[in-house]
Amino acid sequence: MPELPEVEYTRRNLERWMRGRTIVGVVATDPLLVRPKSPREFVSAVTGQSIATIERRGKWLRFVLTEVPPKAGRRSDRAGRETTIYAHLGMTGWFEQAPSAEPLRFQRVGFELERRGKRTRVAYVDSRRWGRLWIAEAPVPAWTALGPDPLNDGIDVPALATKLGRRKRAIKEVLLDQGVLAGVGNIQAIEALWKAGIDPRSPADALSRADVRAIAHGLRWTIARTLADLEKPGGGLGSGPFRIYGKKGAPCPRCDRTLARIELGGRTTTFCPGCQKRRRRRRRKG
Ligand SMILES: [Zn+2]
Repeated sequence: MPELPEVEYTRRNLERWMRGRTIVGVVATDPLLVRPKSPREFVSAVTGQSIATIERRGKWLRFVLTEVPPKAGRRSDRAGRETTIYAHLGMTGWFEQAPSAEPLRFQRVGFELERRGKRTRVAYVDSRRWGRLWIAEAPVPAWTALGPDPLNDGIDVPALATKLGRRKRAIKEVLLDQGVLAGVGNIQAIEALWKAGIDPRSPADALSRADVRAIAHGLRWTIARTLADLEKPGGGLGSGPFRIYGKKGAPCPRCDRTLARIELGGRTTTFCPGCQKRRRRRRRKG
């Protein structure tokens, strides 16, 4: 599933491919993806709009579209109106530049764009169709309920420590809660906890302030590394710069112990039993 770095990489691509261009045609036929409106309503709402900006918060993208000023002498009842598309890539969603009008494999939505007479195409492809492109007048709850975004907002250690101090579940599970920090997924949590030297099973409320600082540092480290890997020419998805994710049975790059794999909250979790120490709640006296 795309996490913060992959979605940010997508956003940067989309800014290059779509910003400042006018949507002159849309092909959308899948009613599953373009909720809550029907494909026909989706097409009519975005056609003729210009793409002002593409923002990201956690794993969500937001396209802000503005009505292109009508040509002289023509009236438009939509002038000045702003349309917003909230997009989530789900499990397998992806945006790609399409070389021709021929739909790509697993293409669900196709945008035809124009700027200064030049036409280009961007396709949304999604084999499992768990992604979504929602038109909304006001921010959707899925967007407003998100916690701080580590890249856009930074990580406020005291605020994060307060949040974690109220949670009893394993730190790895709590980090996946999008209301705690937006955009952290399975891979980024695994890598950050390895960097921090903390056992993923440690209860969140057993962590010290220094532990929280180490996790914040670990998250910044892994997000920056993953983004840099994605942006590297010839880099991209799949390969990944990961130190321990998916490497069960391999030696730990830090202490050489064999990496282990467990299930935690239903998610596969790799960790090092050697250098990732388990934190325990201190027993209260009296
Ligand atoms: Zn180790």
